[in-house]
Amino acid sequence: MVMGTVLSYRLASLEETIAQLSREDCQIMAGGTDLMVQHKSPMGAPARFDKPVMFIDHLKELKQIDQVNQDLHIGACCTYTEILEHPLIPNIFKVAIKQIAAPAIRNRGTLGGNICNASPAGDTLPLLYIFNAQIRLRSSKGERVVGIQDFILGPRRVDRLREEILTEIILPEMLADRIVFEKVANRRADAIAKISFAGSMRLEGGRVGEARFAFGAVGPTIVRSLDIEQKLKGEAFPLDPKVVDGVVAYFDRIITPIDDHRSTAAYRKTVALRLLRHFLETM
Ligand SMILES: Cc1cc2nc3c(=O)[nH]c(=O)nc-3n(C[C@H](O)[C@H](O)[C@H](O)COP(=O)(O)OP(=O)(O)OC[C@H]3O[C@@H](n4cnc5c(N)ncnc54)[C@H](O)[C@@H]3O)c2cc1C
Repeated sequence: MVMGTVLSYRLASLEETIAQLSREDCQIMAGGTDLMVQHKSPMGAPARFDKPVMFIDHLKELKQIDQVNQDLHIGACCTYTEILEHPLIPNIFKVAIKQIAAPAIRNRGTLGGNICNASPAGDTLPLLYIFNAQIRLRSSKGERVVGIQDFILGPRRVDRLREEILTEIILPEMLADRIVFEKVANRRADAIAKISFAGSMRLEGGRVGEARFAFGAVGPTIVRSLDIEQKLKGEAFPLDPKVVDGVVAYFDRIITPIDDHRSTAAYRKTVALRLLRHFLETM
């Protein structure tokens, strides 16, 4: 098959795909909803790629969703629509996914694509961070599992070798009394986030047993602080206003948003800190 002037592959199995990726540098394409925008040509002309395109969206090995012990394993090529329809997926992910794009994009776009594209505004990322999601990668040399916070290095930069393919996302079980996802954008759907926020809280005998929170679109990668989360452990709930002020002041220092066509740095920071304060003050 030819796209522009470049060869492309659509192989029958994951094994064949991995073997070809070990022989040739290819552009992996899942749903193509990010790639086709990034590689678009002037009107009417086919998208341009400078290396062969490896389609993976049809591979059934990458489309399973299974529970293994307490962990949920989600195939990298599951589309948003498939994830939305699956009974094992935690409801909070469905809340986030319903706010992604519109049905046509949700029918094509995949969870693996959102992760590998590594946009700080990727809507699944703040939740994947607070779930401590693990990323499984395979190549002809073997496989490895890496935490999402180590996999994502910066905007469109991930710790993936040329021949590696992301095969699945592993979500460890998370016990929480409250879990939220907030997306602030121009509209309630079909709009990229100006700011996103995910938070979870578990109480033990009126004290914080565990608190986790992460911000999207306010820095080059998702912002999360394990130190601050650790310090909140054992605090009486409702939190003392001084504790809340301290956490907010800490994030005021470490959140460094930018001005761009979607929003201003000042708006992003103000709203991010308000979302955090609201999360810490309410249950
Ligand atoms: C109109 C429109 C609206 C959108 N709205 C939103 C939105 O609201 N929120 C949001 O978060 N995103 C949005 N997006 C972005 C996009 O839909 C998502 O990021 C989607 O999850 C990308 O998945 P994909 O399968 O289409 O990725 P692709 O475009 O196929 O791939 C993206 C990148 O990931 C790599 N890749 C994909 N799968 C793998 C794999 N298994 N192993 C290794 N590398 C892989 C590709 O090589 C490429 O670099 C929107 C896009 C469009 C066009």
